[in-house]
Amino acid sequence: MNLTTPILLDVHDLKMHFPIQRGLLRRVVGHVRAVDGVSFTIRQGETLGLVGESGCGKTTVGRLILRALKPTAGRIFYRYNGEMVELTHKSRREMKPFRREMQIIFQDPFSSLNPRMTVMDIVSEPLRIHGVVSGDELRARVRELLEQVGLRVQHMNRYPYAFSGGQRQRIGIARALALKPKFIVCDEPVSALDVSIQAQVLNLLRDLQADLGLTYLFISHDLSVVEHISDRVAVMYLGHIVELAPAEELYAVPRHPYTEALLSAVPSADPDLKVQRIILPGDVPSPSKPPPGCKFHPRCRYAGDICSREVPLWREITPDHWVACHLADALKLTGVVTS
Ligand code: SF4
Repeated sequence: MNLTTPILLDVHDLKMHFPIQRGLLRRVVGHVRAVDGVSFTIRQGETLGLVGESGCGKTTVGRLILRALKPTAGRIFYRYNGEMVELTHKSRREMKPFRREMQIIFQDPFSSLNPRMTVMDIVSEPLRIHGVVSGDELRARVRELLEQVGLRVQHMNRYPYAFSGGQRQRIGIARALALKPKFIVCDEPVSALDVSIQAQVLNLLRDLQADLGLTYLFISHDLSVVEHISDRVAVMYLGHIVELAPAEELYAVPRHPYTEALLSAVPSADPDLKVQRIILPGDVPSPSKPPPGCKFHPRCRYAGDICSREVPLWREITPDHWVACHLADALKLTGVVTS
């Protein structure tokens, strides 16, 4: 991956403000600012990790990109047949050709698979909906997909309950691959799995990326999960990206206090390095009433006077390392050695 690799996805100042409605007349009394001005690009074949606590807006970003939601503001561009095409205002019908290329793997393999459908039906569903193949060709394609994700072809007539959590997630991955996509939103794909199984599914996703040239937006609440699969990592807090950097650099030299706090919970590979866990005071503020200035200031142990008054600029502090913090130049934050 380098700077000459073409950009596949370009998200610019994306916002999703959900209205809060009250009373019989459903009067709008405020907005939940779930996503509040998010910008990033993803290059072809790259994995961008998107990390933050639950409720920070990361899943909403994934749904906006796939146009399962219509953004309140901002723009989404996707490279299609060599041209950057704007998806922001496309209708359901206009999105159909793009949906073949843009897929999602869901968090929960227990609820995302229809228990009344066989593996054959689940994996072949996208092929049937898009009318891509039928008959013997359809069965052959499902067989190929099951082999690709490490499942036994003999099990294609079984139902989801007959499989373990890791195997069910493999079924979900096979379904996502059915239409030969180029871009996949992986929405917490291993969070519901045992730690021992997580590594197997992450390795599978990495192998598939190498074999098929896939591009991932990998969403997780856990920095230790995204490290080994991501080329770059973006950290989200209260609807904003607060830091974005190449993965190795972000873990070793974080520049935002929120990233430092998240990293303090990641186990270090160096037994001599004792990182003290940073417990953030209070809860994440409500996205309907975000604090003024830096949104993180009520919980930041480094906050100064300026932090509650002025919104920090989003700036490139070193090449390819972006941060929104007034004090980023002065702070010496603690990273971790994880491998
Ligand atoms: Fe903390 Fe201030 Fe930086 Fe915000 S701008 S992260 S409050 S030091």
